[in-house]
Amino acid sequence: MKQSAAFLGLAEALERVRSTTSKNQKVETLSEYLKGLKPEDAEIAARVASGRSSARGSKDEAQVGYSTLLEVLREVTGVTQEGVSKSYLRHGDLGEVAEELLEEKKEQPLFSDPLTLGDLDEAFQRLRSLKGHGSAAAKRGVVKSLILRATPVEGKYVVKVLTGEMRTGLVSGLLEEAIAAAYSLTKADSARAHMILGDIGLLARQAAAGDVSGIKIRPFRPVNFMLAEPLATAGEIAEHFGKAAYAEYKYDGVRAQVHRAGGSVRVYSRRLEDITSSFPEIVDSMKGSEGDCILDGEIVPFSDGRPLPFQLLQRRLRRMEKFAEAAKNAPVSYFAFDILMFGGEETTNQPLSNRRALLRRLVRGTTVRLAETADVSTEGEINAAFRRSRELGYEGLVVKDPDSVYAMGRRGSGWVKLKEELDTIDAVIVAAEYGHGKRAGVISDYTFAVRDGDELKTIGKAYSGLTDKEIEEMTRRLKEITIKDFGYRRKVKPEIVVEVAFDSIQLSERHDSGYALRFPRIKRIRTDKGVADIDTMEKVESIFSGQRLKVDER
Ligand code: AMP
Repeated sequence: MKQSAAFLGLAEALERVRSTTSKNQKVETLSEYLKGLKPEDAEIAARVASGRSSARGSKDEAQVGYSTLLEVLREVTGVTQEGVSKSYLRHGDLGEVAEELLEEKKEQPLFSDPLTLGDLDEAFQRLRSLKGHGSAAAKRGVVKSLILRATPVEGKYVVKVLTGEMRTGLVSGLLEEAIAAAYSLTKADSARAHMILGDIGLLARQAAAGDVSGIKIRPFRPVNFMLAEPLATAGEIAEHFGKAAYAEYKYDGVRAQVHRAGGSVRVYSRRLEDITSSFPEIVDSMKGSEGDCILDGEIVPFSDGRPLPFQLLQRRLRRMEKFAEAAKNAPVSYFAFDILMFGGEETTNQPLSNRRALLRRLVRGTTVRLAETADVSTEGEINAAFRRSRELGYEGLVVKDPDSVYAMGRRGSGWVKLKEELDTIDAVIVAAEYGHGKRAGVISDYTFAVRDGDELKTIGKAYSGLTDKEIEEMTRRLKEITIKDFGYRRKVKPEIVVEVAFDSIQLSERHDSGYALRFPRIKRIRTDKGVADIDTMEKVESIFSGQRLKVDER
């Protein structure tokens, strides 16, 4: 590890990246830094810059809890609990606390060689490998020896990676750009290679080694899944496509990529983890298929032609029981809806209509099921397909453009989803904003609140669900009840009650309730209700705790 580059160079580069708001400068700073590194170091540096300590898709993350980090910082610096709390209140970021406190170390390391990227990676590997009984103390030891050797700014980034709170603004697209600039690739090649490799570290390594052009999809190297964009109503979907589309049932299970080559089959999760051992019957179901292939689909608890509750899959994923028992309690089927490789050839750039024909050919002779689909083009047809899906016990629809390519890792506009809501709440509008584009000139974004005792607490902002006519009427009413006009935004008297549907509830710092509804859409304006009738924080909290299991599992 001796020849590995100093970690200080990376920490300082990340500081420069953090201190500018210009995306171009962020990209330039990082790419300048990466240029000087050899491939192994570029891998570690890019991964750390992305806020990860391990490759995407690896099962284990070297995360360390706040309490361990605080304990180590106190030991190394001799600062009291109170001193640490004060620093935290000032910064609101544990990395910055580390930087401030490490200006004065009480203990000094035995070896004072500067930390290298290789040292850092080795420490992360050790943290990942420590598990089970007694591992907490050993982990603390590893973290302590890192922190002892770290300069303040290095300590800051060690802590930032271990807590997963980088806050440098280096989103995935900017990292791809920086790597492209450092190694003279086009942005498109860099992004594509990233999708296929699935890990920013591997991308940097291959790019530094001049080895990106030959990167192809291949079996047993899972790629990021294509995602669907949510839309609120069948009408919006019909308008979005403006032509015939495929409406597939939205199966409620676990997304899985099935790879087959040379007689063996492996199954990968959405996080690109190998989950083959949890689902041996999927391996069996591929028997009888020929040639190398990569399929995309959903593992669904399923028996007698009907889906079973999603919760049954949790036991399987955690492998809580022996296989025979698991398969009896929670039988599963694999519903395939796409194909990324067929007979050794990548198919992602073919239109979906072709891919489906290939998929149909491939599953013939296997027990893999094809996702059910209907051709739709009007709002009425989409609604009918949605109702059928719900009646059969599925979650809704994923509607797809027959001409679309498979956009790995992207929430492309080629796939949109329509779901039954998790729940609805009645909330009151407390503020509103003018819209953009087609909605310019009307007040179409509404911030709404629930009741917490005598107070109103905001919990979300919705800008979909209403028709153009309803929005016009809302604009008129909101102008009438404006308390304060800030130009594009206005505070309004809390009296318009709306029923808001949503997919889930998340913790949030943005709203003063501490929660945010995910994908909120207005279901109807409740003219029959007043502010006294809206829902409360208690209801929000109870929905939040009830949904948790499922969200965690994903
Ligand atoms: P959501 O989890 O609500 O974001 O919905 C997207 C997920 O729906 C995907 O990641 C898949 O796991 C799942 N899904 C179920 N059926 C389909 C389908 N026919 N096509 C695409 N995705 C589907």
